Amino acid sequence: MASHRHHHHGPTSGEYPVLNLKPGAKWSRGLTQGRLGTFIGGHFSDINLTSVLYVHRSDDPEHVKLEVWSAPGLSKPTFEEAMKQTFKPAKKGISLGPSWTNHWWKVAVKIPAYWFQYERVQFEFDPGCEAMIFSTDGTPLHGITGGFGGERRVEYILPPEARKAGHYEFVIESTCNGLFGMQGGGISPPDMNRYFSLASADLVVPNEDAWHLLWDFKVLCQIIETLPGSSPLENKALVAANEIINVFDHRDPSTVGKCRKIAEGVFGEGWQAKGEKIYEEGMHKESLVWGIGHCHIDTAWLWPFSATQQKVARSWSTQIDLMERYPEHRFACSSAQQYKWLEQLYPKLFERVKAKILEGKFHPIGGSWVENDANMPSGEGLARQFIFGQRYFQSRFGIRCKTAWLPDSFGLTGALPQLIRLAGMDYFFTQKLSWNNINVFPHNTFNWVGIDGTQVLCHMTPVDTYGAQATAGDINKGITNHKNIESSDKALLVFGNGDGGGGPLPAMLENLRRLRATTNNARELPPVSMGQSVDEFFETIVDQTKAGNALPNWHGELYLEFHRGTYTSHGSIKKGNRKSEILMRDLEILATLASLFGHKGSDYVYPQSRINDSWEKVLLCHFHDVLPGSAIGMVYEDAEKLYAQVKKEGSELIEEAFKAIFGFSSSDARTQPASGNIVGFNTTPFPRRDVVKVPFAGPHAAKLRSRLVQTTKDGKEGYALMDCSAGGPLSSSSGMFADCHPVSVYTNGSDHFVLKNDLVQLTISQGRITSLLDVQLERELIPEGETGGLVIFDDTPNFWDAWDVEIHHLETRQPLKFENVTVLEEGPLRAAVLAQLVYGKSIIVLIISLNAVNGSMRQGARPYLNFEAHVEWHQRHEFLKFEIPLNIQSDVATYETPFGHVQRPTHKNTTWDLAKFEVCGHKFADLSEFGYGVAILSESKYGFSCHGNVLRISLLRAATEPDAEQDQGSHDFSWAVLPHVGHFLESDVPIAAYLYNSPLHVRSVPDDVKFQAGSTHRPAFLVAGAHNVILETIKRGDDDDVSGHGPKTVVLRLYEAYGGHATVKLLISASVEVEKAIITNLLEDDNKDELGFTAVAEEEATGGYSHYIKLSFRRFEVKTIKLTLGSGTKKEGETKRESWVSV
Ligand SMILES: [Zn+2]
Repeated sequence: MASHRHHHHGPTSGEYPVLNLKPGAKWSRGLTQGRLGTFIGGHFSDINLTSVLYVHRSDDPEHVKLEVWSAPGLSKPTFEEAMKQTFKPAKKGISLGPSWTNHWWKVAVKIPAYWFQYERVQFEFDPGCEAMIFSTDGTPLHGITGGFGGERRVEYILPPEARKAGHYEFVIESTCNGLFGMQGGGISPPDMNRYFSLASADLVVPNEDAWHLLWDFKVLCQIIETLPGSSPLENKALVAANEIINVFDHRDPSTVGKCRKIAEGVFGEGWQAKGEKIYEEGMHKESLVWGIGHCHIDTAWLWPFSATQQKVARSWSTQIDLMERYPEHRFACSSAQQYKWLEQLYPKLFERVKAKILEGKFHPIGGSWVENDANMPSGEGLARQFIFGQRYFQSRFGIRCKTAWLPDSFGLTGALPQLIRLAGMDYFFTQKLSWNNINVFPHNTFNWVGIDGTQVLCHMTPVDTYGAQATAGDINKGITNHKNIESSDKALLVFGNGDGGGGPLPAMLENLRRLRATTNNARELPPVSMGQSVDEFFETIVDQTKAGNALPNWHGELYLEFHRGTYTSHGSIKKGNRKSEILMRDLEILATLASLFGHKGSDYVYPQSRINDSWEKVLLCHFHDVLPGSAIGMVYEDAEKLYAQVKKEGSELIEEAFKAIFGFSSSDARTQPASGNIVGFNTTPFPRRDVVKVPFAGPHAAKLRSRLVQTTKDGKEGYALMDCSAGGPLSSSSGMFADCHPVSVYTNGSDHFVLKNDLVQLTISQGRITSLLDVQLERELIPEGETGGLVIFDDTPNFWDAWDVEIHHLETRQPLKFENVTVLEEGPLRAAVLAQLVYGKSIIVLIISLNAVNGSMRQGARPYLNFEAHVEWHQRHEFLKFEIPLNIQSDVATYETPFGHVQRPTHKNTTWDLAKFEVCGHKFADLSEFGYGVAILSESKYGFSCHGNVLRISLLRAATEPDAEQDQGSHDFSWAVLPHVGHFLESDVPIAAYLYNSPLHVRSVPDDVKFQAGSTHRPAFLVAGAHNVILETIKRGDDDDVSGHGPKTVVLRLYEAYGGHATVKLLISASVEVEKAIITNLLEDDNKDELGFTAVAEEEATGGYSHYIKLSFRRFEVKTIKLTLGSGTKKEGETKRESWVSV
């Protein structure tokens, strides 16, 4: 028997009615979506959700008592100092300033007894600027960010005992700057006279349910914005959000709960009660997006270092506070310098941070001293970033970082992978290449292979930011924007307000819980996980990609196609960096030698801590908005002071080392020739000859004059030829050698000048360089009809003024002519002309010279043409360069990069080629073809380019944001043009550039001191057998007890500089008794792989070397050798000095 269905005619649920007389539920999707914006704030804020966010609010003097004390000037007293001051009564609305000043508040609140019933009572403090809450015992509790931006965080949740007691006291420090200094997102110079008014100082009871509904609603809106309209989840969220607006009634508090129930339809029933356990449900193991809290605090940018110190305390205390309330919260934070500031300035907070680190919730990351610029620091400078960072983290927390972290650096040298590995790290995180303004970088998770072949696992988050807001959109982008999803479907969500600090807000953690709850039931958004570390994220990728084998590789530098002006902006800082790095190198070499070979009776002690203090200053200024020249003027006042301190301290320490080495005081012969006896100390590993200028002064002037080959025109100074051609550490003054190349100058008396010797000849005609001739080869290097010289460009980038030079600047090239050229020196040691030119409001004085010695002692070397500039620079938005067109054809030019070189195109075949229209180089840039090449050497500039056959060095820019006075005023700098026989790879360019940057330390020594020039003067350590390995660093071990007890070690760092294999002998002086030698990492860790020694053959021993270590190098390899000196090695002051200096 067939069954029947009953037909009902009424609207019974579950049955489909026959008749329908209603209009139906069709909606206008766009209007419904548009309606969502009416529910929070805005025009309807007195009746929408915003109207019920607080149950009570009180700001009357009976409940809130405020007192304030303003610190004088820009002073920044400690809590203890501030508490001793006399405070004055204050109230809401008071205006405080000017910019950057500090104000301390004592706050006493009285809480009405009936408020005890509420779950939470808050004090809402909005000074319009940044502030920090302290307990009355001086413990920083958390930061406050006033104002109206998305970063606003103004509530201080009073502890439960305060509610019970009915009264409570605490302290606030407010500082008159916002998260972005004086900015709301712009980059204009700061207003130095800004005042902030106290907008809120209220005792409030928040409506907790209403706040949660606010977060519910916002997450629903994010889902709607993120997912396509065809997505069921998106529709579900839109229906729920619409229904919430319908059900909500500001007159009926019970509707808030009903609305939250509606939201549960999307997040899952009972999701909130699960708290952080929500992350344990659903697809925990397979989570695609891993959340990590972060707070990018620029160590200086639109605010000075002193403001950063406060930002660190505010932001980090806020995170500790959040960890107490959200157990899943993990926070990764870089920069040992910032931890050290906290340790020094906020010791109580430092202890709280340390406890969270040991608990595994607060994660030091990056292993570096600061988040440094990664284009301009030297190889050793980059190494020290990691050494100082890792050593700090190890010493304070017993940990070393595994992940290098430079999310915001403006391009990353291909030297980094090797240095990252050598510093004990395996992984690298950045996101900056998402800022490329020409090409889209093709990878997110890849093997980054450095110039030497070392690889690190790199993740460049597809979320494209280090300051994500933890929205549905951010999470979705982690997968939809992931370019290597075929190999790895994981993305890192680095969330929290940044640049000026702040970090994650409670709302972000609430957001993430809701989103995770949603994806526990729906698959349309990728699930986000919390509670793990960045290291664990990378470990998962290693597992997922067969140890990286399933990933693409990127070889060489991560060139940022943006911010190309930062190689030039703020010339004084570039110069401060280069000179300081070289000073530190020289200081460490001399101090090490003084500590090993100190003169008899010398009680010299290696000044380890003073050296480290200076290094910390150099490393601090490596920061990625300081060295690039992209910070406000205040920062450069501070940075120039730091460089001046390094120079003063370094010079004093070098004098002390010389005194210990020589056994008597010497003076700098370039300024005070105290005797007629001049020596030069060569800190480079290369033989050399130099022409140095010394004044004739003091009682020995006549004797000095008699010893010098050439005198200046006015007779006040002379030129000494310093010879160190045997390659020892000491260079002595001598007469002209037969193998020198005397120079001369020719002029027609007006507009034609020729500097020449028997190797090269430079012609300046009508203010331009018209000829550069290799005399021996009879080869003209400047193409017919072209000229070299100074050149100026309009420099108006599209937005980021100090950061960017844009490709269109090249369309406005304007050659400048040398004017008023006169002969300055006529030879035979030095020939020079003086040129002066006035351009706009600027004056450029240039000495162009040629010396009788070559750029290096290599066979067939050529001398360089030196350009010494003094510029009074008063242009705005113009770019000064020097260019030389060359009769040389090559598709690539070669530029020095840390511990190696990099080649970049000279053409514009592809957009990737044309993007490199302005590039970073260190001591040289070179254009070579088979048989010949020409390099530009630089002693303080980092910007270069080569377009076709025109090689350029960038000299001065003049942006006006964020520093209105950038580069205005006096500049002294030099560059040189070095022709060379043979291709770059066969040339002496790296050596000549090294010598050009490391002038002799010229000393005047007493007459009774006799130096045995030549064979007995050998360096204590010498690399023999291959000229492509350079001994860069000689220092005492970082773990040495320099007072003389415990093991004594010497650390040598060498690198292969040309890009090929090498096997060398590291020769060790007989007077250094080495007990053990190992190859170690940057952190100088001990290991059991001892290197063998070989006794040197008799004939070689005459050089004073007893043993050597054989070392093999691969292309651009960096090797650190640690020598443990034997107990038989002389104590300080008991050394065989014969190896060194003979008196
Ligand atoms: Zn930054």
